[in-house]
Amino acid sequence: MAPVKVSKICCIGAGYVGGPTCAVIALKCPHIKVTIVDLNQARVDAWNSPDFALPIYEPGLEDVVRQARGRNLFFSTNVDDAIEEADLIFVSVNTPTKKSGVGAGFAADLNYVELATRRIAAVATSSKIVVEKSTVPCRTAESMRTILEANSKPNCRFDILSNPEFLAEGTAITDLFGPDRVLIGSLQTPEGLDACQSLKDIYGNWVPEERILTVGLWSSELSKLAANAMLAQRISSVNALSAICEATGANIDEVAHAIGYDSRIGPKFLKASVGFGGSCFQKDILNLVYLSESLHLPEVAAYWRQVVDMNEYQKRRFSKRVVDTLFNTITGKRIAVLGFAFKADTGDTRESAAITLIKDFQSEKALVNVYDPQVEHEQIWADLQEASPLVPLDSIKKQVTLCKSALEACKNAEAVVIATEWKEFKEIDWEAVYAGMNKPAFVFDGRLLVDAEKLTKIGFKVTTIGRPSSV
Ligand code: NAD
Repeated sequence: MAPVKVSKICCIGAGYVGGPTCAVIALKCPHIKVTIVDLNQARVDAWNSPDFALPIYEPGLEDVVRQARGRNLFFSTNVDDAIEEADLIFVSVNTPTKKSGVGAGFAADLNYVELATRRIAAVATSSKIVVEKSTVPCRTAESMRTILEANSKPNCRFDILSNPEFLAEGTAITDLFGPDRVLIGSLQTPEGLDACQSLKDIYGNWVPEERILTVGLWSSELSKLAANAMLAQRISSVNALSAICEATGANIDEVAHAIGYDSRIGPKFLKASVGFGGSCFQKDILNLVYLSESLHLPEVAAYWRQVVDMNEYQKRRFSKRVVDTLFNTITGKRIAVLGFAFKADTGDTRESAAITLIKDFQSEKALVNVYDPQVEHEQIWADLQEASPLVPLDSIKKQVTLCKSALEACKNAEAVVIATEWKEFKEIDWEAVYAGMNKPAFVFDGRLLVDAEKLTKIGFKVTTIGRPSSV
């Protein structure tokens, strides 16, 4: 046996990971046909739209798709055909946290991974390399292998690889062009190592060899959970320090700067904020918690659980600070929330801190104006409805108004809350914002984004994460 030279790739799942990752593979490997499939017709239509109105916003993505689409990159809902013709199949489906049932709120919902795996087994009539791209609990590859082997046709063999994705939304394309590392996990058998080499050859078209790490399957699966858990832990650590700063007069920016100079700590990912969001951090830590519990390691589970608890505390602490500062009541007061995406440069709202803040303001009977430069209004309504399932949407709409600009959102408001670090919020005409607001006019900066001194000079009362309230 020798490593298969891959000429056709199928990617199951055309989401935030499958779409950009396989579009970049197509761009960098013009000799390989890449077909990205999804069950969601609207999503596939958007990927195929003639005017490149792609389903996700990601800087640089449109350019990649423009170059490769129709050449060797295709988007389709025809899952079976793409599976059948491929030598290598990425499984890049969603793995949300279970919301109900046994292990609810902790365990990963592997239903989509299992359905995709069963589809591969049902359709494939030739051997395939199956690559776990989704983030999954440790040893999921074993379950996939069991399902595939139990359902395979004669002369069909499946080699499973783990190749977790480390891209960050907002910088996905630069991350994919120049990754810190590509991680490939395989069984340490001759067949497993051959499959590993086939995938290595694909990435080798643009990723330097020393950045392609090859490890065992279980190490690869666990490394992805561990990397996200440690990134989130850094944020929770700095956020815990921000609470001490607010109470003592220390400044979290100065503290982070000082500790980041230690080469053992490093300066990245030390920005205090209203709390992390996104589809991955919380989910992956809860996955680790669940894994630890099922391995009868309750102390380890409690340790990681605390990272998520600290994040919830940070969001709630911020909401409370808004209410406290506005003279302990926000009933009937208009609050402008700037930003709804979970971070800048993405339209993704999953687990966004803005959702928690708005819900808190709603429960305190405030009127909330919301503006985000990228997020569609239907998405905002859907998220607010999901956050308050028992409240009719009409009632939510009586309290929440969606606006077309930051200036419009701030008009006649008592307070501006910066929930997402969009650059345009730094650059808005704060004099004009001030002129249009009720007085005293408050700004609550949940992202350490604006120049607090400058805004104070204009007349705002500014409250910043990690600094005492007087600025
Ligand atoms: P997503 O929800 O954006 O996309 C998943 C897609 O898979 C959906 O469009 C869904 O319709 C499709 N799908 C589900 N089952 C299918 C099936 N059987 N056949 C065809 N299509 C199917 O999710 P995502 O953000 O791209 O995440 C995918 C995986 O990658 C998750 O495990 C996630 O944890 C992981 N991950 C995400 C990120 C991120 O930044 N979003 C980063 C690294 C890893």
